[in-house]
Amino acid sequence: MDNNLAYIHSIVTGGTVDGPGVRYVIFFQMCPFRCKYCHNPDTWTKNVLGIKTLDSVFSDILKYKNFFSFCGGGATVSGGEPLLQAGFVAELFKKLKEEKIHTAVDTCGYTDITEQVKKAVKYTDLFLLDIKHLDTDKHIALTGKDNKKTLEFLQYLYKNNKKVWIRQVVVPNLTDDDNYIDELISLLNKYSPIIDKVELLPYHKMGEEKWKKLGLKYELNAEPPSPERMKLIRQKIEKSGFEVLLS
Ligand code: SF4
Repeated sequence: MDNNLAYIHSIVTGGTVDGPGVRYVIFFQMCPFRCKYCHNPDTWTKNVLGIKTLDSVFSDILKYKNFFSFCGGGATVSGGEPLLQAGFVAELFKKLKEEKIHTAVDTCGYTDITEQVKKAVKYTDLFLLDIKHLDTDKHIALTGKDNKKTLEFLQYLYKNNKKVWIRQVVVPNLTDDDNYIDELISLLNKYSPIIDKVELLPYHKMGEEKWKKLGLKYELNAEPPSPERMKLIRQKIEKSGFEVLLS
């Protein structure tokens, strides 16, 4: 589709969890992954009813410009996977940077480094990069795809000195044991110059109802981690010198 149009699922104007300050969050349609804990399965495919123009999205964001300067917020693209529509993101963010509005991309990082992606990266101030799993086989079992592109994308962000918040969903018996957290810390150490924060997201089942409504079978058999376990994981990562946000 032309870069002036995008498949958009929804827009939230007072987001507080997708980057610094209060955010204008645009949730894009389509995603290359099928995470077993996804709480937005309704974003997975195209929805022609959600097509929006670049001008309409840009002019709507502009209404909040003064508010963003006041609260240190900005615009975040999320999804689904916004970099599947990187041409639109690049054009939108170029215009937002001309207005000095902070820009963030919430991504699973599963993308080829195309010219459009490079341009979107150029105009992005902050990446919220989801690490689903560091073991290839477990990543495939959890998302349907391997983690190679995500790790290559992180390397590209490193080469381009882009600020990153690493996001990790903590699922008991999957991404919560000490060995896994040690591996995560190794990754953080490798890219420490660009890692601004680590965000730990305790697994929850809030998406399960949506799966049912869409006629999908929710197969992940897990319970949310305990607050005590989350606290220990947080302390372990903080001891390694990283700032941790715990949702
Ligand atoms: S990457 Fe995000 S939107 Fe896509 S399937 Fe996973 S949790 Fe859902």
